[in-house]
Amino acid sequence: MALSRNIFSIVSVLALTTSSALAAPPPGKGGGNNNNGPLDLPSAFEAMQADTIWSVPNSPQDHISSTFGPRIKSSSNAYDWHRGLDIHGEIGDPILSAYDGEFVGIRNYTSGGTTVIIEHQFPEPVEFQGHQITTWYTLYMHMDEVAAYLVTADSNDEHPIIAAGDQIGTVGMTGSTVNPHLHQEIRVGSRCSLEYQLDNPNSGCSGLFFDPHVHPLFLQPETENGLSLSVSTSLTALEDGVIEISSEDQYPDINRYEFQIRDRKNVRASYVLDLNERTGFDATTNDILDIPDETKPYLSPVPFGYTADHWTTYLVIPASFVTNKNNGESFRVIATDIWGNEQSINFGDKKVSW
Ligand SMILES: [Zn+2]
Repeated sequence: MALSRNIFSIVSVLALTTSSALAAPPPGKGGGNNNNGPLDLPSAFEAMQADTIWSVPNSPQDHISSTFGPRIKSSSNAYDWHRGLDIHGEIGDPILSAYDGEFVGIRNYTSGGTTVIIEHQFPEPVEFQGHQITTWYTLYMHMDEVAAYLVTADSNDEHPIIAAGDQIGTVGMTGSTVNPHLHQEIRVGSRCSLEYQLDNPNSGCSGLFFDPHVHPLFLQPETENGLSLSVSTSLTALEDGVIEISSEDQYPDINRYEFQIRDRKNVRASYVLDLNERTGFDATTNDILDIPDETKPYLSPVPFGYTADHWTTYLVIPASFVTNKNNGESFRVIATDIWGNEQSINFGDKKVSW
C-alpha cells in the first residue's frame, strides 16, 4: 500500500476526557523551514542523512532487535519504554560513530554498561518542545571495548573531534543485557534525561525540562516502508478496540498514533500518542514512563527480535475510554512514522454500539 504524505489538519478537536491530550499536527515534511524560522526535527535530521553512517556495519538494518518506544523487554519480560535502538551483533564487532562530532567522554552505567557519548551540532537551530536547540548527542551503550585513543582522551579530559565512520569501540554485553548488541540513543538539546534534570537542578545539564531521547532511526534515510494497519478484534459493546500495526522488520520507525472519533467530515475528538514528543506519556520519572496507563489508549507491543520479518504493536482503545460515540460517527486510527508518512484505518461504523 502506498503511503500518503499528507499532513492532516485538525479543524476542531475536543478532548475525550479532561485529561486527554489535544491533537497537534505531526512534525515532518512540510513543516520544514518555510518562514526562515527554525527547522523542525525531521527536517533537521533529513538534512544530515547523507553524512550519516550505520553504526554496526556487520549487522544490516534488519538486525534491529528493539526499537524506540514501548516494548516488552526480552531480559525481564517487563513492559519498558525503550529510549534507544538495539542493533544485534557479535561481541567484538566494530562500532562506528554515526556522525561527525566531538567526544564527550566514557561513562559506566549500571544498566547501559560501558558507554561512549559524542556531541553533534545541528547545521542550524532546531525547534523542539518549544525550545530552540543547537546540539544533539549520540550514546553507544553495552560496549565491550572502547577505542584506545578515546580511553586516553577520557583519562586526560580531552575531547577529540570524531568523524562519521571512525571506530569508537566494539559491540559487547556490559551493563544489564542478555545478548550482545549496541544500544544506540539520540538525545537532542541535552544529554541528561528529564528525570535526571529534575533530580539534579544544579548539575549543569540544561534545564530544558523535556525528555531529550528521540527516535534513532532519524539518522537513517527515509524509506518507503510496508506499514499496515488492521482491526484485530471484532468490536462489540464494551469490548476494547485493538488495532494491529505492523511494518517490515528493518523499519520499526512508527512515531505517532492518533485515535479519532469523527463523522464523515469532521474530527470531533482525538487522542494522540507521540513517542518523540512524549504526547500521551509522562516522562517525569522512568518508573512512571515504564508503566502504561491502561485507562487511555495505549500501546501493547509484540517482542520481535532480529530474526522476525515483521515488527508489530497493538494500539488498545479501552472501551471505558469511549463513552460518547454518537450515531453516524466512526473511528479512525492514523499511524505516522518519524518522517511524517502516515497510514490510516477506519472502523466502528454505526452498527457498532461501542
Ligand atoms: Zn536498548
